Amino acid sequence: MKNIYNYTLNELEQYFISKGEKGFKAIQLFDWLYKKRINTFDDMSNLKKNLIETLKIDYKISSLKIITKETGKDVYKYLFELEDKSKIEAVLMLHDYGNSLCVSSQVGCNMGCLFCESGRLKKIRNLETYEMVLQFLQIEADLNIKISHVVLMGIGEPFDNYENIIKFIDIISCNKGIDLGVRHITVSTCGIVPKIKEFMNYGKQINLAISLHAPNDQIRDEIMPINKVYKLDLLIKTLKEYIKVTNRRVTFEYVLLDNINDSYENAIELSKLLKGMNCYVNLIPYNETSHSKFKKSNEKKTMQFYDTLKKQKINVTIRKEFGQNLNAACGQLRANYKEELQ
Ligand code: SF4
Repeated sequence: MKNIYNYTLNELEQYFISKGEKGFKAIQLFDWLYKKRINTFDDMSNLKKNLIETLKIDYKISSLKIITKETGKDVYKYLFELEDKSKIEAVLMLHDYGNSLCVSSQVGCNMGCLFCESGRLKKIRNLETYEMVLQFLQIEADLNIKISHVVLMGIGEPFDNYENIIKFIDIISCNKGIDLGVRHITVSTCGIVPKIKEFMNYGKQINLAISLHAPNDQIRDEIMPINKVYKLDLLIKTLKEYIKVTNRRVTFEYVLLDNINDSYENAIELSKLLKGMNCYVNLIPYNETSHSKFKKSNEKKTMQFYDTLKKQKINVTIRKEFGQNLNAACGQLRANYKEELQ
């Protein structure tokens, strides 16, 4: 049976019309699901009995199982079990500007970035749209909070699951339902160039973040296999086009790895690469784990890198660290859970 949270307002309008009903029934349904948060068709009191029965035959309303929830300072980390028993993570971070949810888009990831916990867990499948929507709905309900920002930066490469993430964005930003501002939604990619081009024409003011992590091909080839397919030159050229078409600023994520990409020369090289682009760089302190091949850059080198970019007139911030003692590295909760099972 189809899952109701998989469908956009537009798709549900088409569904109702195909059943000989008025399209606006979809607005009523969205109101129940996403504004009133009702999760049984029988409770949708302004829908006719026979329509409710039809909906019950065609769709189901499900939920994900919360296996663990870890709580740290300003962070909650959830491990969910899906219907096929796959496990995914979602992380809720409390910022001064609002509550930000980091959503997973795949079970595992095939991109193989060497510094990433998620990359150790090979992709099993793409998440369906409803599995992303439910991460949002269930964490809001569980914590009794409102999520103000969504970042697609959890397990998986969002652009490797393009259609489903676009539907997810359409659903959470729909003004008949959750109505999350599109400017509060960020999609992060390791640099799948054809999808960046497609996303350029999506027409919504979503934020785009690029996992860059290196100032040249030599380093990027070593730590991010995707760079062997889409070289930096092509990536930067595509992003310049993206900025021109969308008039949006791009964020570059840069995890600082000791003696790999954190030297003064690397900072200068990065500044040259990004010179003149409407962008900012988000420096990320590396979260070491027991499996780590890399070491975190020390504070002195981190500040030197930051200052160098600043002096070169590159907009730069250092990301706040969340819950290092909380299995908070991307993919870590799921990895540890798996190990416990073996
Ligand atoms: S950084 Fe992102 S794209 Fe790379 S392996 Fe991790 S989840 Fe996949």
